Amino acid sequence: MRLSNYFIPTLKEDPAEAEVISHKLMIRAGMIRKLAAGIYDYLPLGLKTLKKVENIVREEMNNAGAIELLMPSVLPAELWKESKRWDFYGKELLRFNDRADREYCLGPTHEEIITDIVRKEIRSYKQLPINFYQIQTKFRDEIRPRFGVMRSREFIMKDAYSFDATDEAADKSYWAMYEAYNRIFERCGLEFRAVLADTGNIGGSFSHEFMVLAPTGEDIIMSSTDCDYAANLELAEIGVSDNEKEKERPQKDLKPINEVSTPGMKTVEEVAKFLNGSDGDLIKTLIIQTDTEPVAALVRGDAELSLTKLRKVLGAEYVELSTPDVIQEVTGGPMGFSGPVGLKKKIKVIADKSVRNIQNAITGANKADMHITGVNPGRDFEADLYADIRVARDGDPCPQSNGTLVSTRGIEVGHVFKLGTKYSEAMNATFSDIDGKEKPFIMGCYGIGIGRTVAAAIEQGNDEAGIKFPLAIAPFEVTLIPTNMKNENVKTISDDIYSALKAIGVDVLIDDRGESAGIKFKDAELTGIPIRITVGPRTLENGEVEIKTRMDNESRNVKIEEVVSEVEKLLL
Ligand code: ATP
Ligand code: MG
Repeated sequence: MRLSNYFIPTLKEDPAEAEVISHKLMIRAGMIRKLAAGIYDYLPLGLKTLKKVENIVREEMNNAGAIELLMPSVLPAELWKESKRWDFYGKELLRFNDRADREYCLGPTHEEIITDIVRKEIRSYKQLPINFYQIQTKFRDEIRPRFGVMRSREFIMKDAYSFDATDEAADKSYWAMYEAYNRIFERCGLEFRAVLADTGNIGGSFSHEFMVLAPTGEDIIMSSTDCDYAANLELAEIGVSDNEKEKERPQKDLKPINEVSTPGMKTVEEVAKFLNGSDGDLIKTLIIQTDTEPVAALVRGDAELSLTKLRKVLGAEYVELSTPDVIQEVTGGPMGFSGPVGLKKKIKVIADKSVRNIQNAITGANKADMHITGVNPGRDFEADLYADIRVARDGDPCPQSNGTLVSTRGIEVGHVFKLGTKYSEAMNATFSDIDGKEKPFIMGCYGIGIGRTVAAAIEQGNDEAGIKFPLAIAPFEVTLIPTNMKNENVKTISDDIYSALKAIGVDVLIDDRGESAGIKFKDAELTGIPIRITVGPRTLENGEVEIKTRMDNESRNVKIEEVVSEVEKLLL
């Protein structure tokens, strides 16, 4: 490509609205422009990068046996009503009516549509397994679109859906996608991890998120120092701590319970300090509403309850903090003073496993401005269940090895999910099995954010001068810079190298503008093209040109005759 015939509108200044580095750099490098909140134009350089990622994704999906198709983005409401998601999806689903007043939405994901195709077209177990995918524009009316194309409202996703006859076959389809995702993100040159993720309320299923490691990531990953255990913070399990290993609770120095007045003390810290204890001496009691009944959840004062873990332990569809009315009804006291001793109503008490060994704890007294000291689990109250229900922290024991858990931030670029029969049952999508019976398809769904992957790569690869693209997804592999277009020798040799590189299939951009060398260098660094060749009068005197690699900013001079083979080596 000749830059004089191309379009890369780079900017000197950081755009004011951009918060993260990838957003700033994508705008400055002339890759994207904002059209409206969370809606972006991809300019030529941005589109070219997007296509590189798409091609890798497409190749690996095809290699894994998935079949490409294309579904519409305007979707009729009927299918969404069949799955009940028309009501459950909430405001992220952009809905509208056509001229005949029929209801539609813009597709945020396509389970309903693919299930509709498959229930009409696939009749027999003999046609299974099958996995369809598309690379297509999605719309989600995100409450807080931000970080440019990383969390936008309109974005391009690769979404795949597998259909199987048996559970074992569905697991095989799932792991085939898991492997394909590993290859995709490796080929994209990213540092990433596959982590266990929450499956929401679809029982019996499992899920992994693919996280690109970056300090600006919105997700927190807990991973083990000693093994490959890694999980999303919300559900990271905690191993057994030394303290919990003691089977028998030490029963010495137990104090009697004592009700004390704690006027105006609201926080754990205030109460603990007032009563000369530490935060860990407190037992926090949270009254939680589930789909069936309220329960009390107990965690130490220095810990945070994980609603995700609690939901799993209870096998509940949903869990949320109870309203003050319910708290009053269940405990007899106002919100903020609940405790497990003397609850007004008999409700299930689920305690974090670390609560079992607390001695002489402080709890709420189920009365305004009152607490109880000297509370001992087993003596003063009994939990119905001790389980792992708190949010993991750095330094917690790993659930699978002797290591400890450490937190890192990540950007979710991909998600694999075993769906089971949620959609096939709701939409009556069945096939006739080997035994002649009609059975619902067992499904999986698998997404990759194409634009988010590009942004994540930039979050990982950048410096003060701009982007450092991994070779496989860079918009161009090589940028060729003639420092002075008026110098005939420079111009001729640059053209020769350009033609020679093109002849062997190198994706090369020649900066043949009449700009100064300084401006060309700045733009080359900003746009992050991995290999830069500079043709200037000074090195030409020795029959040489300069090759510089963007990733390490290392440069060296090579003979003109060797430049093509040097580039070939770098591209290997
Ligand atoms: P998040 O938790 O970040 O909102 P999600 O769980 O809603 O993601 P999925 O429904 O699993 O995402 O979608 C599959 C992939 O699509 C994600 O892994 C991500 O790469 C991409 N994606 C999701 N939402 C957006 C968005 N608003 N902008 C850009 N990419 C997105
Ligand atoms: Mg989302």
